[in-house]
Amino acid sequence: MSASERYSAVPSFWAATANPHPDLPALSGDIDTDVAIVGGGFTGLTTAHYLQRSGIECVVLEANDAGWGASGRNGGMAVLRYKSGWTSLADQLGLDTAQHMFRVLHDAIDSLESTIAHYGIDCGFSRCGHLTAAHGPKPLAALAADVRWLEREMGYEGASVLSGDATRRAIGTDEYVGAYLERRSGGIHPLNYARGLAAGVAANTRVFVSTPVTGYRREAPGFVLDTPSGRVRAKRIVVATNAYTGLFPLPNDLARRIVPVPSNLIATEPLSSSVAQSLLAAGHVVTDSRRVNLYFRMSPDRRMVFGSRGHLSGSNEPWAFEGIEAAMHRVFPALRESRIDYRWNGKVGFSLDFFPHFGQAEPGLYYGIGYSGRGVVLTHMAGKVLAAMLRGDAVDAGPLTRKPFRPIPLHSLHPLGIRLYTAYYRLLDAREEAR
Ligand SMILES: Cc1cc2nc3c(=O)[nH]c(=O)nc-3n(C[C@H](O)[C@H](O)[C@H](O)COP(=O)(O)OP(=O)(O)OC[C@H]3O[C@@H](n4cnc5c(N)ncnc54)[C@H](O)[C@@H]3O)c2cc1C
Repeated sequence: MSASERYSAVPSFWAATANPHPDLPALSGDIDTDVAIVGGGFTGLTTAHYLQRSGIECVVLEANDAGWGASGRNGGMAVLRYKSGWTSLADQLGLDTAQHMFRVLHDAIDSLESTIAHYGIDCGFSRCGHLTAAHGPKPLAALAADVRWLEREMGYEGASVLSGDATRRAIGTDEYVGAYLERRSGGIHPLNYARGLAAGVAANTRVFVSTPVTGYRREAPGFVLDTPSGRVRAKRIVVATNAYTGLFPLPNDLARRIVPVPSNLIATEPLSSSVAQSLLAAGHVVTDSRRVNLYFRMSPDRRMVFGSRGHLSGSNEPWAFEGIEAAMHRVFPALRESRIDYRWNGKVGFSLDFFPHFGQAEPGLYYGIGYSGRGVVLTHMAGKVLAAMLRGDAVDAGPLTRKPFRPIPLHSLHPLGIRLYTAYYRLLDAREEAR
């Protein structure tokens, strides 16, 4: 990757409407700390927030700007579902584990909300509700089973099923046969959240930007990390670089434990109030139930923000967005003539089991990676869990902390793997669309 790609500004709608970046320094000279956190996205900053509260000294080292990675580019959907539904989690992992995973996920969104309030972050957080829109009867039946599971096993009434008609009214399209509405889910302006969190954390913790960690080595009592502008001597390291873990190759195998998959987003021009009123009328954020899913929401200034799997080239040229524009026109024919004002992309870090993983790769080297497109809430969980691990507490987040998490065999072939899996998943999705 060239230096200009590493540091290039992201031409996103979020960047164009963001609050100013907090005034943070680059590292200059050599420093000592207890914990060095590599990566200044949601994971790194949330970990710093919880370490600070535990009285553990840390520093954050970010190669670019706070929120430069996926954290500042994403759909901003604070979703309260893992990639697998609740019934399938209970079938795979047992009832107790699925119930525990429900509780830690809800605890994470509540903590996210209180962190935003604690620092007074202006990021438009609202519990606007999230729809999982069903692309066919079979996925709708699975979503309905999840609602029944939540009522029966958790006594939870925050989720319900919308009929086809109700979904048509809620979204403004005939594309879906029904939906799962989760009312406690929400939406944020992701870059403003990242910047606000960085500013809040930086009041009591050293947060360095434009400071890539280019290598590290063991040296008693811990590690020495190299950057172009100074060295950091740390007892422990947290790797919080997720899909950008390969940006500056470090001497560990974490980059090979996840697959970086591009995701593209577009934002239209502001829509006329008559068009906007008929789309996403209740203000929900939406992900559909396809394996290669579409996700969309309305911005506060009435732009349709629409995303899906991106072009493998990672190009920001308009041709790389033709597929996603066609998908938006199919779902929302009324937007066929709408100008596209913003096109941008980012990398989603997928793990093989679609769960993030938190743990130690080797003694003293911690990680929180692999959110598989569900990082807005799960990174908050990561920050809490990693801080607890660093305090020496026993932590249980089900398969996120328990399961083995190893390098993926033949990882260097992942571009081919992404192509094959995308084609296969699209085939499965298309078969379920048949009504
Ligand atoms: C287009 C897109 C849409 C998405 N939409 C949603 C959504 O709507 N809802 C949802 O829940 N999730 C979504 N996600 C996923 C979510 O954004 C991520 O899971 C989450 O932001 C990961 O945060 P992070 O802090 O772990 O990683 P990142 O935000 O990617 O941060 C990693 C940081 O590490 C830095 N870095 C890398 N190497 C080094 C180094 N050697 N030294 C110093 N710094 C380094 C990078 O510069 C980067 O800033 C989306 C992701 C993408 C890409």
